Amino acid sequence: MENPFDDDYFMRKALQEAEYAFDRGEIPVGALIVIDNRIIARAHNLTELLTDVTAHAEMQAITAASNFLGGKYLVNCTLYVTLEPCQMCAGALYWSQISKIVYGARDHERGCIALKTKLHPKTVMIGGILAEESAQLLKRFFIEKRNLN
Ligand SMILES: [Zn+2]
Repeated sequence: MENPFDDDYFMRKALQEAEYAFDRGEIPVGALIVIDNRIIARAHNLTELLTDVTAHAEMQAITAASNFLGGKYLVNCTLYVTLEPCQMCAGALYWSQISKIVYGARDHERGCIALKTKLHPKTVMIGGILAEESAQLLKRFFIEKRNLN
């Protein structure tokens, strides 16, 4: 039997978080942290609400997951995020020692791949899961924002 809890399943949920961000006028990036097929953190970008450039979805998710687990290391956890992590978030993920990162769309300019940010040696990263949907949501956001100004 096929596992219903695959990367697509969790990325769909991360995309829901990105849509919440969109509806609140935040750059639409959503993130989840999962352990044993269980979601232990859900977050979206909050940089506008908190007036804080560090309030990326991944940063919120790392804090929430650590609180949930009662430990600072996210061993055996997977982060799902709709956009490739930036160097700040990749740096924070390094410290968390997270086991796996799954991202949606690539960020060719500010992503950790282009900027060669080092991940933790224990961390595996894969991308391109629901990449098109994730990228389209961001695109729509910036088009609407431009039209409002
Ligand atoms: Zn980031």
